[in-house]
Amino acid sequence: MFRDVATQYHSEQRTMQAFMSLLTLVEALAEITEQTAQPGTEGAPLLTLEDAGQAFAEITNRVLNCKYVGVFALDQPGELQRLLGVDGLPADEVPRLRKDTAGVPLADYLDDAALAQFHANQILTLDLKVQPFATKRSTHHARYRLVAPLMLHGQFIGFFTVAKNDDRYPDVQSAYSPAEIAMASGLARLAAQIFEKVRLLQEKAEAQANEQKLQEATRRYEDFLSVASHELRTPLTTIKGNVQLAQRRVRSLAKQTDPSVLPIDTLQRIEEPLKETLLNFNRLERMISELLDFSRIQADRFVMVKQPCNLVGIVRHAVAEAQQNTCRRTFLLSLPEAEVVPIYADADRITEVINNYLSNAHKYSPAGLPIHVSLTIEGSRADVAVRDEGPGISPADQARIWERFYRAPDIKTQEPGCSHANLGLGLYLCKEIIDLHQGQVGVTSTPGQGATFWFTLDLAR
Ligand code: ADP
Repeated sequence: MFRDVATQYHSEQRTMQAFMSLLTLVEALAEITEQTAQPGTEGAPLLTLEDAGQAFAEITNRVLNCKYVGVFALDQPGELQRLLGVDGLPADEVPRLRKDTAGVPLADYLDDAALAQFHANQILTLDLKVQPFATKRSTHHARYRLVAPLMLHGQFIGFFTVAKNDDRYPDVQSAYSPAEIAMASGLARLAAQIFEKVRLLQEKAEAQANEQKLQEATRRYEDFLSVASHELRTPLTTIKGNVQLAQRRVRSLAKQTDPSVLPIDTLQRIEEPLKETLLNFNRLERMISELLDFSRIQADRFVMVKQPCNLVGIVRHAVAEAQQNTCRRTFLLSLPEAEVVPIYADADRITEVINNYLSNAHKYSPAGLPIHVSLTIEGSRADVAVRDEGPGISPADQARIWERFYRAPDIKTQEPGCSHANLGLGLYLCKEIIDLHQGQVGVTSTPGQGATFWFTLDLAR
């Protein structure tokens, strides 16, 4: 009678203890869920899978009261074992368990029948005397094993083993009661959830760290771009000044010198490379200023200095300059009757946009064909359009050419070998500039029949 009461008392005690341990586990799960919602807060150290595995092994050992509990992850491909935590083994046996199991396929631990049961997500009980390991490995003096698969979204992410070495049990069936097997099944479901949360938490933290690294790299790259463009600009301006000076001297020499002493064609031979050098300098200058503007946009330092100005003057001046730089090209300009089309804008930046459209029209259309430039008034808006008769742009590319660094793969410059400034930044900058003027940019094109690049701006009142 007394024995019955004592057994029942012990059984109730164990149930109570198991219940408390499960509560602890559920609390731990809730805590992890909170951490997952706000990863990396307060500099709290991140919970690793190993931490979670160790905590889970300890709690499971309390619940199931056995010799030891091992918790393993299964790495794909090949379901390779990786020890996450162990409780109950003497300290010196833990490294041995880790070594014996590291990278060993699950198939070396379970025979075919057991493996099939595992993959059916069932709890297994094994007697290692009857089903020894396929490879040499210590049993840690515990022959009876319970193996619980950890399944998540149809994948086996790991398992835990419970080891018993109790001489009181004649066989494996009596070593694990149905209640313990049911408990192990519940614990396995909880463990899978915990590991999933920890994994998500780590992924989030990793993504955050990567994002920070990326931001840092971008910042350094922008700084570099800004410094490099500044540094390049200064010597370039000096060299360009010297070339222009040499060009002027050659010209005045030509005027002053008797052609019989210094023939005209000799002077021309000196002037030609100077001209070519200057053209290349202009291209370099444009590339550098595009890079500089780009770095300013990235750093939010791209500012417009707006004031009242006349769009007719801006368009006329831009076309005249383009004509001067490219003598062989015909520019056909169409302006409204009004001499003044008032806008409130950064005139230099608007000039840059027109220059860019003109330079692209020149770059991408054959030299013999004209470039049409028009300024029209539509209600309260002014519309500037640059049309060429080149290859045009496919609809897919029309949507992308305003992106930074985008260059339509099939479109080639019309002068082979010509080192135009082709960074794929020009149209991106045009759009930024016009956006900062609350205007709109666009392109209309039928491939094979040229392209019209346009922008509209509000008229100033
Ligand atoms: P890029 O420095 O390469 O000219 P842009 O941003 O000015 O950079 O232009 C982006 C791309 O748009 C060009 O590389 C080219 O493929 C295409 N593109 C621009 N203008 C024209 C045009 N007038 N005709 C055909 N394609 C053009």
